Amino acid sequence: MAATKYIFVTGGVTSSLGKGIISASLGKLLQARGFHVTIQKLDPYINVDPGTLNPYEHGECYVTIDGAETDLDLGHYERFLGVQTTQANNVTTGRIYQTVINKERKGDYLGKTVQVIPHITDEIKRRIKLLGSKYKYDVVITEIGGTVGDIESLPYIESVRQLIWEMGESNCLVIHLTLVPYLSATGELKTKPTQHSVKVLLENGIQPHILVLRTEREITIDLRKKVALFCNVDLDSVIQSINVSTIYEVPILMQKEKLDVTVIKKLKLPENGTPELAPWKQFLKRLKNPKHTVKIGLIGKYVELKDSYKSINESIIHAGAMNDSKVDVKFIHSENIDETNFTELLKGLKGIIVAPGFGDRGIEGKILAVKYARENNIPFFGICLGLQCAVVEFARNVLGFEKAHSTEMATKTPYPVIDLMEEQKGISDKGGTMRLGGYPCTIKKGTLTHKAYAVTEVIERHRHRYEFNNLFLEAYEKAGMIAAGINPDTNLVEIMEMPSHKWFVGVQFHPEYSSTVLKPHPLFVSFIKAAIS
Ligand code: GLN
Repeated sequence: MAATKYIFVTGGVTSSLGKGIISASLGKLLQARGFHVTIQKLDPYINVDPGTLNPYEHGECYVTIDGAETDLDLGHYERFLGVQTTQANNVTTGRIYQTVINKERKGDYLGKTVQVIPHITDEIKRRIKLLGSKYKYDVVITEIGGTVGDIESLPYIESVRQLIWEMGESNCLVIHLTLVPYLSATGELKTKPTQHSVKVLLENGIQPHILVLRTEREITIDLRKKVALFCNVDLDSVIQSINVSTIYEVPILMQKEKLDVTVIKKLKLPENGTPELAPWKQFLKRLKNPKHTVKIGLIGKYVELKDSYKSINESIIHAGAMNDSKVDVKFIHSENIDETNFTELLKGLKGIIVAPGFGDRGIEGKILAVKYARENNIPFFGICLGLQCAVVEFARNVLGFEKAHSTEMATKTPYPVIDLMEEQKGISDKGGTMRLGGYPCTIKKGTLTHKAYAVTEVIERHRHRYEFNNLFLEAYEKAGMIAAGINPDTNLVEIMEMPSHKWFVGVQFHPEYSSTVLKPHPLFVSFIKAAIS
């Protein structure tokens, strides 16, 4: 087999330019030509993983099937490529240093002084090459978080420089993404920030091969020539990435700009015909030509930052397209919901999602939203904490269990309907200690959930410490809320539903992590369908 080719995606001028989307789009185009592709994210922060970060910092924490808590960009990679990622696809500075320091403590460096170069850079390079050598990908795309010039990105940039030197230009490629701002005062697009940011890369020993320019307006051929001249790249390596209405348009846009063709040429890869994008285009067509519009409420406590619920949002978009429907998502802060206003706030919603979360801030608002959905026969989808709220609401208002709660919020509740999992007792460290990753779930035949999935065995991803307390299951089932999904190994309740309701499902896992463009998650599809009808 031919050697793995490595593509590095760096960013300049500012953050949030969409390196993740460009990486995922390029990955999609290469995959559509038959290449075996994966995408990796290197994050320069010192946290070992984003699991301990507040969503306000970097948005949601994405969870892989093998239980890694990762950057949300991995969600884009999976949604675009339809291929699962693992822990190896996300590396942080914290993880690199942890490995190196552990080796030092073991004495593996044989008395040497341990330094950023070569020890840290060697560990970074090992983690990049691992994907190629161990998993045998044709192409590994490595996205480097942060912006060139940041102190914390330096070891990564240096590692890329070394890899290019070691593996040769025909095996490595650097794509640099920058911003070309439009100055309305003079009516001009400006390329100077791009020139400067390429200079920063050059100072670090890297000549980028392709430049992707983010812009609000068309970049003329003359401007492209100017960038090519100042930045030592070919004219066809100056790629424009203009703003579009949906991120799912970007692969098509990049194909028009011939990003894939340029990459293939530079890496001396076989062309493999033209990319097979028919199913993708079919999805886009449905997305852009909806026959209905439906308004869904998303109840959460991090709603100020939409990235906090990235995967849920995207799952809704996939499921909406599948139902030929545009979904208007109304984000509602659970802290703003109370006894006096909940009817007013939730009025007009055709479906209600109660989001995952931790701690008791805003919890009563979430429970009120469940009550509203249950009593008014409005399709309800509870995800992780959302399921737990549904269980608490049912206990208090249907079973008459006064002050029932999750022991996460009320340790001394008389009815601990949600309780700490056995294996969680005694754990005090916060990082990487939850029940994480894929676990099997057996679905009860004849349930709404079964109808949605159309199979009885699934594997879904988890991220929680608390669970439904099986001591109460009988009471729930007698009163009309049943366990529709159970972990066959541990008997833990995975899914609760209310057969008498139009659509009322709560899941202990996170279906949003596994919804992709070409394979929307069946529960989201079924939920949106119920909301439309
Ligand atoms: N806080 C809850 C638990 O730990 C729910 C977690 C979540 O919503 N991801 O069980």
